[in-house]
Amino acid sequence: MLAILKDFLLNLFFILIPIFIVPLWVEERNIPRHIKQHLFTVCLALVIILCITIPVSSDPDFIFDLRQIPLWLGSLYKGPATSLFLCLVTIGCRLLFGGAGFLVTVITSIFIMITSMTLSKKFLQLSSKHRILLATALCAFSGSLSLELAQMFQGISSSSSIMSLTYLFVQPIFMLIVCSLKEMIYKNMELRKRIIRAEKMEVVSHLAASISHEIRNPLTAARGFMQLLEQHHLSPEKRKQYIQIAIEELDRAEAIITDYLTFAKPAPESVEKLNVKTEIERVIDLLRPFANMNSVEVKTTLAPFTITGEREKFRQCLLNIMKNSIEAMPNGGVLQIYVSIEKQRMLIRISDTGVGMTKEQIDRLGEPYFTAKGIKGTGLGMMVVYRIIESMNGTIHIKSEIHKGTEVSIYLPLSSSNSHDLTNEEKKFLQHYKTST
Ligand code: ADP
Ligand code: MG
Repeated sequence: MLAILKDFLLNLFFILIPIFIVPLWVEERNIPRHIKQHLFTVCLALVIILCITIPVSSDPDFIFDLRQIPLWLGSLYKGPATSLFLCLVTIGCRLLFGGAGFLVTVITSIFIMITSMTLSKKFLQLSSKHRILLATALCAFSGSLSLELAQMFQGISSSSSIMSLTYLFVQPIFMLIVCSLKEMIYKNMELRKRIIRAEKMEVVSHLAASISHEIRNPLTAARGFMQLLEQHHLSPEKRKQYIQIAIEELDRAEAIITDYLTFAKPAPESVEKLNVKTEIERVIDLLRPFANMNSVEVKTTLAPFTITGEREKFRQCLLNIMKNSIEAMPNGGVLQIYVSIEKQRMLIRISDTGVGMTKEQIDRLGEPYFTAKGIKGTGLGMMVVYRIIESMNGTIHIKSEIHKGTEVSIYLPLSSSNSHDLTNEEKKFLQHYKTST
């Protein structure tokens, strides 16, 4: 009995890997979306193979195990193609072991495939509770079907009460547990994504105030010069000059709006090579009005290194840090951004001459809802920063002294770790950097 319990738990453990460990592992890494999708399917296929090779009963005539759970999971959640693939894997793998139970496997697998193909679209539209219940019911049904078929084809009466126990009791209960866990993890991930999005909206609305102010200036200037053009006694040169200025001011307003929109509009998630210099410059452009409003001077020492990551997220991360820095200098100051290479990693150092933080504040940084700004702050900015940098396999170090300022150092892996992979621009900078230090 104990041995059987052990086998059940081992089967359950296999099943928990793709739905529990793999998503958490994948979420921390920069893995393209389509690979993530396939990874789940491949893991389920491996689980099916493991379940069949290390079954609950290894009676050569009738191997039974919990393989129907991963088969249902993949078929219901991932759709017809996955279903077909997993069905073939199940049948193929079971074929290697032969025995009379093979026919039962074929019929049940095909039953699962057809049922899930007709259901899978509707299944995903159900509420999470109904999904769990439906999956459990289907699993119980396919279990009793297997049992019936086994009795029919092989006359296995109840040579195994264990077999009945497995199909009618253990399998549905495990499905219930596994499905609930899957839904719970999915909900958690969605929540985290939503928090990041909410923080972005917060930044967007904060910036909107300073941006509209900044747009009004060039528009007023352009309007003024156009009014001047109405005068009749204007010389052609003056007229040309006024038009030129009006156009320049309109261009400036347009540039500000473009910048703001690139940030505010939702972007598809895709991992790509990013030029750190360009990205930092874009974020500074975006923050310039806000910095001007606080009389903050921005100084930069940038280098065109490449890293890999999601563009919008990387920008948001820089934006959150720099926005904090500017907010820490309400009476003006200097915001300095410095990029270099340290120990084969790229370093971005963002320092300000603002109010600084106490040691307790630094320790709490990144905790959700920790803010010293009262109702003006969300306390989510730094949490988002930590998450993004973590997902890019980077680290953050904070140094701060009260009334002196704060220094945020971000270390990120270079996208080309070998120096012969470096782009020409990077090589040039590195050479310059080595000779100057
Ligand atoms: P929020 O900006 O909404 O308050 P954050 O998570 O961005 O939330 O920051 C949390 C807190 O950390 C801020 O309220 C502030 O007290 C402190 N902080 C962050 N960056 C700096 C900085 N550069 N200088 C001083 N304090 C900072
Ligand atoms: Mg902030």
